[in-house]
Amino acid sequence: MASVASFILLRKLRNRPFHVHVRFFSEFSTENTVTQQRIEKILIANRGEIACRIMKTAKRLGIRTVAVYSDADRDSLHVKSADESINIGPPPARLSYLNGSLIVEAAMRTGAQAIHPGYGFLSESAEFAQLCEDKGLTFIGPPASAIRDMGDKSASKRIMGAAGVPLVPGYHGYEQDIDKMKLEADKIGYPILIKPTHGGGGKGMRIVQTAHEFVESFLGAQREAAASFGINTILLEKYITQPRHIEVQVFGDKHGNILHLYERDCSVQRRHQKIIEEAPAPNVSNDFRAHLGQAAISAAKAVNYYNAGTVEFIVDTVSGQFYFMEMNTRLQVEHPVTEMIVGQDLVEWQIHVANGELLPLTQSQVPLSGHAFEARIYAENVPKGFLPATGVLHHYHSVPVSSKVRVETGVEQGDAVSMHYDPMIAKLVVWGENRAAALVKLKDCLTKFQVAGVPTNINFLLKLANHWAFQNGKVETHFIEHHKKELFVDPTNSGLAKEAYEAAKLSASLVAACLIQKEQFILKGKPPGGLSLWYASPPFRVNHHAKRKMELEWDNEYDSSGSKVLKLTITYQPDEKYLIEVEGNETPVLEVKVAYVGNHVFRVEADDVNKEVNLAAYSEDKTRHIHIWQGSNHHYFRERVGLQLSEDEESLHKPNFETASHPQGTVVAPMAGLVVKVLVKNGMKVEEGQPILVLEAMKMEHVVKAPSSGCVHGLRVTAGEQVADGSVLFSVKDE
Ligand code: ADP
Repeated sequence: MASVASFILLRKLRNRPFHVHVRFFSEFSTENTVTQQRIEKILIANRGEIACRIMKTAKRLGIRTVAVYSDADRDSLHVKSADESINIGPPPARLSYLNGSLIVEAAMRTGAQAIHPGYGFLSESAEFAQLCEDKGLTFIGPPASAIRDMGDKSASKRIMGAAGVPLVPGYHGYEQDIDKMKLEADKIGYPILIKPTHGGGGKGMRIVQTAHEFVESFLGAQREAAASFGINTILLEKYITQPRHIEVQVFGDKHGNILHLYERDCSVQRRHQKIIEEAPAPNVSNDFRAHLGQAAISAAKAVNYYNAGTVEFIVDTVSGQFYFMEMNTRLQVEHPVTEMIVGQDLVEWQIHVANGELLPLTQSQVPLSGHAFEARIYAENVPKGFLPATGVLHHYHSVPVSSKVRVETGVEQGDAVSMHYDPMIAKLVVWGENRAAALVKLKDCLTKFQVAGVPTNINFLLKLANHWAFQNGKVETHFIEHHKKELFVDPTNSGLAKEAYEAAKLSASLVAACLIQKEQFILKGKPPGGLSLWYASPPFRVNHHAKRKMELEWDNEYDSSGSKVLKLTITYQPDEKYLIEVEGNETPVLEVKVAYVGNHVFRVEADDVNKEVNLAAYSEDKTRHIHIWQGSNHHYFRERVGLQLSEDEESLHKPNFETASHPQGTVVAPMAGLVVKVLVKNGMKVEEGQPILVLEAMKMEHVVKAPSSGCVHGLRVTAGEQVADGSVLFSVKDE
């Protein structure tokens, strides 16, 4: 009796209806799982948002957590969120988060019974999974054998082909002789795609349009594969010209049960990396959905899969046919969109499966409700080709969370986005009853998500979400490329340039009024002499008509002639009213009434319109940086205040690439990163566009090229060196 009572209590604690459990006992195997030792303490072999995400579920289940951290992450949120934490070494991932034996040792020292690898780092290392098992630790993931089978793209395709899963027409054989490969390529028909069998992140992939290009591309791909992955084997595939990337979430338990939790569309990508994902996939029929789900289950069964996995398919939008691409043997970044539409916690499922329990639902019990989007908010420089950015999050204000809105993050205001790890700041996940409702929510949240201190892709995500083709669900992997005219700024559009200038003037006026109002608010009750940075000379007095001037620098993205300086004259009137005049303005003087609500929020009345605005300001590089958010507008201004920063403060600030002036021909680092290769020497003659060195940061490589033809001078960096954003790399001079 006692054991039945505790069993019922256990179900209640898990907040899952009792009848569900009874049903799956009748549908699935009746193996008894009650006696197995349950996991009570988990070490999370990861950092950032995913570590925080896993800890949330563990805490809810009463499981204790251990964080591991590198020296760079000592004060980060994932460390603060854990019950215990252990330092595992210096910032470079290969010396800390990728050091499997150190992590296993940390688990044993802290008495954790299981390791959750998160995603990235060691999550798809069969050796690490094996090491955990060898040391008697439960690896919360699939069996090492499945990770191994899926790690080789050719081998995985052979397994899938044998299991009847549709494959892109191609060659996945062992023979790598160039003549044989060419013959196979001709058979497949051009265009074809050459892929390294052990690749990732799109590295080494080459599209071959015609037979003449084959040999050169093949040899190039082999070289790149050998350099990047240490293995130069290649596979060939028909190149699908208009594809969608649709993946299926699968789950298995250790008793042979496997089900799917529907699909996610992850077609919208930049640099082969996803930025907006959604579930379910838009514009697909239920029939297609069912076939895709079945194919994913067959794929997982073919490798005796258990725990969470994702089967990726490429869908040819012309023929409507789908093909297996690869299987990711881990929990994915975008798993929350699936959680939102099925109402389940996948990390909880992972823990149950690791405990040897049965899957909590059967296939027919998996609900599909509404629609969810995930937008990945990155510290990155969109105009510079989405290059990762680093810096301090001086202002970080996310949106209120609810059952319909989730924000997954590993950072807090004041944290730094460093060059060592992925530059993702947060994942914004929203749910709606249908796609249109979810999209409204996504746009609303993006307009309210505020980050200042590092450039972000928030505005770009908003443009994507507002794009007509995205609104209609016409997504495909070349979406950004196909719609670049509307998504990127055209700096020759004079109509937009004028419109943007007018909007900036209005924002600048509000900035001026809000800042002065806040200053009054802060100074109230303080003795004279407590002058803030904003205080003018001669002193600006409350309750007296007084004037002061302010100059704000602003970049008009639609005007290639550079930054503009907005010169403002502000006259104070009683009742918190300000008259603001912008130099060169044809429009009349603006009257603004402002009240400071607190916590960066102001209530303003301008032109008879009442609204709330948010303002954040911080100083860096002798400049005050000011951000204002009002409605769907976000403006950024700079004010040169000649602040006297202390030497310590000064050294913290990276050189400013945008404003530093260098002699012609000088090339600076476009992002902070590690120099992985230097391809030339000082004094060497180079052609315009010739690769000079390769930088790597946060999962991506960037080739720095010669800006013109000439001779290389001043090249001081060497392979293995870290460089800051904007630091001088070399120069090219005419001979
Ligand atoms: P990686 O493991 O290097 O990321 P994938 O095999 O997952 O390589 O492919 C990465 C991306 O390349 C896919 O998301 C898709 O956009 C594109 N891709 C892959 N295979 C094909 C193909 N046969 N035709 C067209 N595009 C493809």
